[in-house]
Amino acid sequence: MFLIPESFWEIKKTKSKGRGVFAMKPIGQGSLIGDYVGKLVHLNDVDFDKEKKKLYLMYYNDEFGIYPNLKKPSVHLINHSCSPNCWIIRYKDHTIVFALKNIDKGDELTISYLLPPKMNCKPCSHKCFCKSKSCTGSMHLTEGGYKKWQDFQDKEKKKGKYKKINNENILKPLAKYPKTISKSYILKINNLKIM
Ligand SMILES: [Zn+2]
Repeated sequence: MFLIPESFWEIKKTKSKGRGVFAMKPIGQGSLIGDYVGKLVHLNDVDFDKEKKKLYLMYYNDEFGIYPNLKKPSVHLINHSCSPNCWIIRYKDHTIVFALKNIDKGDELTISYLLPPKMNCKPCSHKCFCKSKSCTGSMHLTEGGYKKWQDFQDKEKKKGKYKKINNENILKPLAKYPKTISKSYILKINNLKIM
C-alpha cells in the first residue's frame, strides 16, 4: 500500500522494465512511500522456478518474503535500481519504503531488491536495466554488499524485539506510521555503501 497521497505517484509503463512508479510531485528525502503489506511466506516454500508471483516477492528477512496483493497498484511495482532513490526500513515488524533521496517530479521511484548473490540463480531472470552509472547489470547484490546488509540487519534486530512469525501471517496496515524517517537512519544506509 502507498503511504504518500495518490496525487504524488502514478503507474506508468517503462521501456524495458514493465510498469514502474513515478513521482508526480517532488518527494522529500525521508518521506514514507509505502508499506509492503501482504502475506509472509517462508523462502523454502517458494518455488523459484515456477511461481510468477515470485517476481514481486519482497525481502522481509533471511527466512521470509512478503507476497503483496497484486490486484492493487502498490509499492511492489517499484523497480530495482543499482542507484536507488528509495530504501526500506523495518518498523514494527513491517517493511516500510521511504525516500532515500529528494525525488524530483517525473523521476521514477526505485529501490534495491537486496537479492542475495547470484550463485543459485540459474538461469537468472534478474537482469538490471536501470542504466545508472553504477549499474552492475544484475539485481543481485555482490557478496560483500549482501554481507553488509545482513550485518546491518542483525545489528538493528538486536536493538528491537521482533515478533515471531509463521507462514500464515498476514501483514496488515499499521494503525500509525512515523511521519518521516530519521536523518540518522538515512545516513547509516548511505554509509553502508551497499550499492
Ligand atoms: Zn542496474
